[in-house]
Amino acid sequence: MLKGSRCTSCSRSYIPPFAFCPHCVDSKVEYVDVPGEGRVVTWTRTKDGTVLVFVAFDGLEGGILHRYVAGSDPVEGMRVRPRFRAERVGSILDIEGFEPAR
Ligand SMILES: [Zn+2]
Repeated sequence: MLKGSRCTSCSRSYIPPFAFCPHCVDSKVEYVDVPGEGRVVTWTRTKDGTVLVFVAFDGLEGGILHRYVAGSDPVEGMRVRPRFRAERVGSILDIEGFEPAR
């Protein structure tokens, strides 16, 4: 499960998580679970053919830029979920990429 941060002063939540709240510059933050699905805000294809998506999550500010791992091109607004690697070490690379949620 992905983790975000939530400010206990203003209740804003962020992904990726911050050690402080960027809005009120308060360090009273806690980790929160991120919904299992996000939505593609935008995407691009690199010169080597890698497809990258910027994924936002309901209720959280910010998002994650990562690979898109499916056969067809993504569509802006489509629901996606992270595909995790079998072996995890607590890194952003524990996510192999994002794939269609359904
Ligand atoms: Zn705050």
